[in-house]
Amino acid sequence: MKLADRVNKIQPSPTLAIDAKAKALKAQGVDVVGFGAGEPDFDTPANIREAGKAAIDKGFTRYMAVAGADDLKDAIIAKMKRDHGLEYTRDEISVACGAKHSLYNIAQALIQEGDEVIIPAPYWVSYPDQVLLAGGTPVFIKTDEKAGFKISPDQLEKAITPKTKYLIMNSPCNPTGSTYNKEELAAIGKVLLKHEHVLVVADDIYERLIYDGLKFCNIVEAVPALKPRTMVVNGASKTYAMTGWRIGYTCGPKELISAMNKMQSQSTSNATSIAQKAAVEALNGPQGEVDKMRAEFEKRRTYIVERLNGMPGVSCFKSNGAFYVFPDFSALYGKTTPSGKKIENSSDFAAYLLEDAKVALVPGVAFGDDRYARLSYAISMENIKKGMDRIEDAIKNLK
Ligand code: PMP
Ligand code: GLU
Repeated sequence: MKLADRVNKIQPSPTLAIDAKAKALKAQGVDVVGFGAGEPDFDTPANIREAGKAAIDKGFTRYMAVAGADDLKDAIIAKMKRDHGLEYTRDEISVACGAKHSLYNIAQALIQEGDEVIIPAPYWVSYPDQVLLAGGTPVFIKTDEKAGFKISPDQLEKAITPKTKYLIMNSPCNPTGSTYNKEELAAIGKVLLKHEHVLVVADDIYERLIYDGLKFCNIVEAVPALKPRTMVVNGASKTYAMTGWRIGYTCGPKELISAMNKMQSQSTSNATSIAQKAAVEALNGPQGEVDKMRAEFEKRRTYIVERLNGMPGVSCFKSNGAFYVFPDFSALYGKTTPSGKKIENSSDFAAYLLEDAKVALVPGVAFGDDRYARLSYAISMENIKKGMDRIEDAIKNLK
């Protein structure tokens, strides 16, 4: 069978692939510690689950408006005002089947063949492939751990060309957990203001998972003049432990939102009716569970960073957001495993840990930096401890 060329331009999502591998091993009875999955281990809070059940009983089981139900749009409008002081109207909001889908719709609606999209690296795995699928060219800005894995205004200035369509900002970041403050965003915004043709996609999906007393800031809050050319993407998955419900949304200029809606009307039609009702409760209801989950993630972050930094040949950046750590394992490259295999890169290291130590993590090469690997701490403290012990032993067994 001859498949479309576009399929060959991309790879399956490596994060989902690793997670599937770990789950398959578990199903076979293997005791795997899975640091692969980027999804909260908590249940969706009870009030949200109840809202989902009530939606079924009340008959919200039919097609919905393509761009999302008005009550969900209003809940998003209220959230953007309450949390960020930003004003949006219903026609500036589009609800999709997860933030991944929102980002996909943006790429499809904006990118022309040959357009460039600037992506700070390390990056979340789906950004480059979504750009490639739309016919665009990803342009990476490599960030440095010493700079907190953040781009500088100077780096951004150098990366912009007449072909640049948009810049993707993701703070807190998957996979580094790095978080930009208001001043840093203002400095980046200053560069963007000089280049009117460059749009901005702000992927704020981890906004509520932020630690060390830091305050989340959105790029439009830092630089209000960017609002007419910024698409703010967010969703229910991470904040409300709702990954399976598939609710994401974009707030942005009317013209683009209406283009995204037109495309969605020919693909998924609308996000699931029941999930939309649950998301209304998530956004409008009590937020206590979010705070509890955040506090638990922070405890785990502190523990895991300390453990990793205590291991010989491992150096771990103290991330302050999301639920990932991104340690540098490259000092171990060149060593040999007990079965005689030489570890040359992050994929070899991840394969060694999975086979010998029964620990799953995602090799850094998937995120654009082969020196590192990503561990999600969205698993119980007990499993984190077990996994850390196993990694420590596996490293000691290297020669
Ligand atoms: N952006 C980032 C940075 C993510 O890590 C994820 C999680 N996969 C998403 C977007 C998409 O999340 P979802 O599609 O579940 O809303
Ligand atoms: N965002 C999560 C991750 O990075 C979920 C998997 C995915 O959609 O890529 O692991």
